Amino acid sequence: MKLELDILPLTQWLGNYPKPLLIAGPCSAETEEQMLTTARQIASCYPGSIFRAGIWKPRTRPNTFEGVGDIGLKWMQAVKEETGLLTATEVATAEHVEKCLKHGIDVLWVGARTTVNPFSVQEIADALKGIDIPVFVKNPIYPDLQLWMGALERINNAGIKKMAAVHRGFYSYDNGPFRNSPKWELVIELKTACNELPVICDPSHIGGTRELIPYLSQKAMDMDMCGLMIETHIQPKSAWSDANQQVTPYELHEIISGLNIRSAAVADRVLQTKLDELRLVIDKLDNELLELLAKRMAVSSQIGAYKRDNNITVLQVAHWKKIIETAVAGANQLGLPKNFIKGVYHLIHDESIRRQMEVTSPLNPLS
Ligand code: PEP
Ligand code: MN
Repeated sequence: MKLELDILPLTQWLGNYPKPLLIAGPCSAETEEQMLTTARQIASCYPGSIFRAGIWKPRTRPNTFEGVGDIGLKWMQAVKEETGLLTATEVATAEHVEKCLKHGIDVLWVGARTTVNPFSVQEIADALKGIDIPVFVKNPIYPDLQLWMGALERINNAGIKKMAAVHRGFYSYDNGPFRNSPKWELVIELKTACNELPVICDPSHIGGTRELIPYLSQKAMDMDMCGLMIETHIQPKSAWSDANQQVTPYELHEIISGLNIRSAAVADRVLQTKLDELRLVIDKLDNELLELLAKRMAVSSQIGAYKRDNNITVLQVAHWKKIIETAVAGANQLGLPKNFIKGVYHLIHDESIRRQMEVTSPLNPLS
């Protein structure tokens, strides 16, 4: 899958930005005082960061706080004048874009609830034609990489060259400990499709609770993401939206200074040689895995033929249960995590069933 975007590298429009590039500020603009106090404290530690605040809030249910609206844009201007920080907010309509441009907002972002809707994204893109402003695109609510790419393309086709994608996690039925499950594999796919696209992580909306933010931020850095969007509020517990996931500017500083920023480039020749050696070992093992999988699937097809000839159903639940139990027990002894092995075995089993069905029901239009 390829994603062709005509974009500028971050350094060309942000200069020598710090790693991580930090986008910090409250979930929502609430009062001028809240904005200025938060911004001052952020600016004193991170003058190179971008100040974020939601002006119009897309809320899941009505009758909750839906943002202060236009007055917040004036407070953003005050933040910029006093602290020198660049300012960023979410836009969901052409009218939002126009108002932001009128008030000198420096960076716009398209939120997760908007990225899912090509009509809305196109409306924003049309409003941006002929304008030179950076735009970040958050991933859509649900894990559809094509939708995310489509939104990036629409904005880029409007002539916007200063762009980044934001990974803020995805809604899923079982989110485990997260508010929105992170899907690092989708980020890898996005980077593989378009290596020059900067990707920022939003650990606040992934985690949903403050406690998860340091862990998620470190993970994002280890995935070589270039920046972090972290909701920061002078009094997080009494925030008007997303109170559980915001941190104080002081906590923000603790999170950022606790990060271990590793380098993607291997500078040292000795390190590179060692890495190359280990990669060779991995390549060889991966090849063996592939060959074994091919052999295993060939046996699955033979079993399919045997079941067909003897009128036996393809799925044998009791047998499948036994396979999984044995695999999990074996994995445990080898120090492999249970969920990982379960995932791998489910994939193998699905393919095995598909092969057997191919033999038993060759007319399946889906195979
Ligand atoms: C936000 O950043 O405040 C926000 C609403 O984010 P998302 O679109 O990721 O839910
Ligand atoms: Mn929020």
